[in-house]
Amino acid sequence: QCVAVCPTAALTEVNHSDKVWEALNDPNKHVVVQTAPAIRVAIGELFGMEPGTIVTGKLVSALKRMGFNGVFDTNFGADLTIMEEASELIYRIENNKTLPILTSCCPAWVKYIEHQFPELLEIPSTCKSPHIMFGTIAKTYYARKNNIDPDNIVVVSIMPCIAKKAEAKRPELTKDVLNNVDIVVTTRELGAMIKEAGIEFNTLADEEYDKPLGETTGASVIFGTTGGVIEAAVRTAYEWMTGETLENVEFDQLRGSDGLRKASVNIGGKEIKIGIASGLGNARELLQEIRDGKNEYHAIEIMACPGGCIAGGGQPYHHGNYEIVKKRQQAIYQEDRNKKVRKSHENKEILELYEQYLGKPFGKRAHELLHTHFEERERI
Ligand code: SF4
Repeated sequence: QCVAVCPTAALTEVNHSDKVWEALNDPNKHVVVQTAPAIRVAIGELFGMEPGTIVTGKLVSALKRMGFNGVFDTNFGADLTIMEEASELIYRIENNKTLPILTSCCPAWVKYIEHQFPELLEIPSTCKSPHIMFGTIAKTYYARKNNIDPDNIVVVSIMPCIAKKAEAKRPELTKDVLNNVDIVVTTRELGAMIKEAGIEFNTLADEEYDKPLGETTGASVIFGTTGGVIEAAVRTAYEWMTGETLENVEFDQLRGSDGLRKASVNIGGKEIKIGIASGLGNARELLQEIRDGKNEYHAIEIMACPGGCIAGGGQPYHHGNYEIVKKRQQAIYQEDRNKKVRKSHENKEILELYEQYLGKPFGKRAHELLHTHFEERERI
């Protein structure tokens, strides 16, 4: 294992690319890879492209050349997350259960709340994060569909995030045969691997993600920026709660770059209050408000990195230049607009997955496979 040492010697960043090469060189392994929403708008910077250049097709093409047996999109896992999280939101509202619901995609803030606000552990959604959900589905539904022994499947996640490495090793996510995700590498690690493989990234032709599990929506790509998870959930919750078609799927009140935002959305005459925090200082403020009963939110989104995953710790360095982060955010919203389908519950492959394998959203099997739990940890 290579270790990149931080200049202040306060942190070390472990590089797992050697584990990926090892898996790819093992003829007995079926190695699948998934790419997080935020990668496609940032990795181009490692190859001299302008910040915010969307390189989804080149990214897929590079991964295929590296020898992965299946190249998939974490956005599929994000659409699945919305099916579960929007169901959980509606369930909690309609049954007077604990509110607000907190999105649970960001492992850094999940760890933070476990240490710092254990009295609030009832409020996070129990949904696994999108890449972990994808790993579970790869080792169950995908394995069965393709007649592959799940023990021979290696799931690699390309993430904008160093905390995702620790998340994949959480005991409750590795205790069963699934071992949901085996290896996590960051955007920077992948960039180095592409160079190491001698792949001319800039000249690659665009390619498509593999199927099944390859269809994704605009709602899933906005997970990459602050406010995106909650906006994606609102798109689905709106239609499910009202039975009406949502014509304008863009909720400007949920967007922006301020670290702490409060907004409300009218769903069928009911005002749904939403809080959004990015950066852990802002998260603390929001959580203190909730603990002290000062604000009655229905839903909260927290991302540990200021700006969300587009500015994650595993992304190309932006050196504090938030113009770069802004360009990545604009590209995320553009990628959403480029999609024909922009609501997670309209993803046909997701619907097929429920029909053929999972049963009802938020149902028994979905709970067993797609949900988790959190626990109090020692204050440090
Ligand atoms: Fe990781 Fe940061 Fe995204 Fe949280 S916000 S999932 S820490 S990249």
